[in-house]
Amino acid sequence: MSKFVVIGCGHAAGQAVASLRQDGFAGQIDVIGEEPHVPYQRPPLSKQYLSGEQTIDRVYLRAAAFYDERKITLHLGVRATRIDPTAHTVAVSTGEMLHYDKLLIATGSRARRLSITGSELAGVHYLRTIADVDAIRAEFGTGKRIMIAGGGYIGLEVASVAVTAGLAVTVLEMEERILKRVTTPAMSAFYHGLHTGRGVVIRTSTKVSGFAGTNGHVEAVLTESGERIPADLVIVGVGIIANTEIAAEARIACDNGILVDDHCRTSDPDIYAAGDCTNHPNALLGRRLRLESVPNAMEQARVAATNMNGGDATYASIPWFWSDQYELKLQMVGFSSDGDVAVMRGDPAAYQFATFYLKNGVIVAVDAVNSPREFMACRQMVDKRSKPDPAKLADPKVALKELI
Ligand code: FAD
Repeated sequence: MSKFVVIGCGHAAGQAVASLRQDGFAGQIDVIGEEPHVPYQRPPLSKQYLSGEQTIDRVYLRAAAFYDERKITLHLGVRATRIDPTAHTVAVSTGEMLHYDKLLIATGSRARRLSITGSELAGVHYLRTIADVDAIRAEFGTGKRIMIAGGGYIGLEVASVAVTAGLAVTVLEMEERILKRVTTPAMSAFYHGLHTGRGVVIRTSTKVSGFAGTNGHVEAVLTESGERIPADLVIVGVGIIANTEIAAEARIACDNGILVDDHCRTSDPDIYAAGDCTNHPNALLGRRLRLESVPNAMEQARVAATNMNGGDATYASIPWFWSDQYELKLQMVGFSSDGDVAVMRGDPAAYQFATFYLKNGVIVAVDAVNSPREFMACRQMVDKRSKPDPAKLADPKVALKELI
């Protein structure tokens, strides 16, 4: 009987094992996850789970019974410590040694930590896991002063939940604008206005240099310019680091992620990788990418599962992503930085619009706010490299599907 082992028990792992059984793989599946949970979705952690709208069972991808019924063995709360590609084994922190015929590495990523004065103080939080959010929620309270270090998507999602819950929210961003790494100046300005309009204080060009506290708990954020800003709690959202160490130690090729081909195969023919931990080629964009997104984790997991099971699937998709802040859903496909012209459709003041980014007249990316139905057409336009008349594109009376 074939034995497959999966390292990591997150979104990619959860999708991969479901796909393996769906595709008819009848062999043994062992999943090693260091968190004590069945595979779960991280997006609600900074949204509905943080706000309390969603309970933990709705955060789980599937109930525990799903894995029992399909004879998928989850080893939870334990770490995979070493891969031996020659012996085809994975060592587990319990001392157990698991043999594999095919291995999937789905170790994801971890929050990048700040190593500055006071980072060890209680009340300084990161946001990656259910445990992180439970700890943050225990400190939430009306009127409390929350400092958010980092004006990226996670920081801003937390800001929207926190200000709605009645906390006094300040976002500290070291760049001159929020969301600089991921979007255009116009979109940054839109979100800046949205947050400040709801009462969030945003301080750009402000670099956090340390934390001060009393009795082991944070009470202020220190900035590089010498300020001391009082804080009851702090959330640090300054990016992630791909968990590649276990692969690199096994001499699997890594370079800003575990290197995989379009079949999700690593440099070892019996080892696959999927999700945040990978660096993969995108034939449609003509370059390699390391992505931090659910659609990528799910699609790579499906491709890896098919190929581990003897199939021949390739991964080729234009990346897309979403972010929920207040009542606004932002959906993005492609990379706006790939375009040289922007065409606006709809009205930002009405909180419903899309910005199309064109390169040589071809749509290469779209950012759509509160337009989920149009976003389906937007994805098709990017996939099909549509080259519409910009005047028609800008006119909401012309249906997008006519322009695909
Ligand atoms: P992960 O979900 O990180 O899972 C990897 C798992 O492997 C982890 O549980 C880790 O503990 C475990 N692991 C690592 N090493 C070992 C080891 N040696 N042994 C055992 N276990 C190990 N994406 C979107 O598309 N839209 C969003 O709105 C969005 N919002 C997000 C909000 C938050 C707060 C966060 C943190 C992420 C968000 N993302 C969002 C990103 C998305 O959640 C990730 O891209 C996705 O979870 C990646 O899945 P993964 O399986 O590759 O990795």
